[in-house]
Amino acid sequence: MLPEVEKLLRVQHHDQRIAAIDKELAGIPLLEEDVRDKLLEDEATQNEAKSALQQTEIAIKNLELDIDTRKDSITKLKVQQYETKKNDEFTRMGEEIVRYGEEINGLEDSEIELMEQAETQKATHEKAKAEHEESKTDVVTELEDLGDLAKNLKKEREEEVVKRKVHADPLDSDVLYNYERLFKGKAGQAIVGLVDEVCQGCHMRVVKSTYMEVKGEKQLTNCENCGRILYYWTDDSVGKDMGGY
Ligand SMILES: [Zn+2]
Repeated sequence: MLPEVEKLLRVQHHDQRIAAIDKELAGIPLLEEDVRDKLLEDEATQNEAKSALQQTEIAIKNLELDIDTRKDSITKLKVQQYETKKNDEFTRMGEEIVRYGEEINGLEDSEIELMEQAETQKATHEKAKAEHEESKTDVVTELEDLGDLAKNLKKEREEEVVKRKVHADPLDSDVLYNYERLFKGKAGQAIVGLVDEVCQGCHMRVVKSTYMEVKGEKQLTNCENCGRILYYWTDDSVGKDMGGY
């Protein structure tokens, strides 16, 4: 294997790792946003549950006021009934008392329904409140974890940059420039193996002269189809493009 090829493969290995780290680092703010969104959602759920319960409690109070008003009316009507001397007035008041009594029954039925509803809503609110409290604790841990992850990735990136430099520095600047241009343009695959006359970058068969040049291992050769740098792939090549050094 050409020494330049070996160096380029190692540089490429580190560049691929750096690109993967950058991608992961770029995703961290989004993950942090998700964590914060979850907290906001839980807070909103709790507030909604609280407000629903409060509305039911207000409705119950209003029903109680309505019931009390009717009870007062009944009391007054009974006094007036006692005082009146007219039969028809007495009868009319009696009918009103009955009507108010029926209304009270209806209102009390509604009140029981609302009280049951309030019980359910209270349970829902308690649950939402507990979940919100849990989220508050979770979000701190999760953000800390993401912070640690970012820190570790940055450290690893620095190490990769140092390792890359060791292999990149001895390379001719034109060779390195060409490689870097390809790495950017060819989605992180600047140098690829030639396997059975087929470029592993574009998967096209190269012409005979290219094949011979690559096999000769005298100079760097590019694929005439995709432009990538080619190296003659043998079973011994395995591991060399995996880096680790
Ligand atoms: Zn190609």
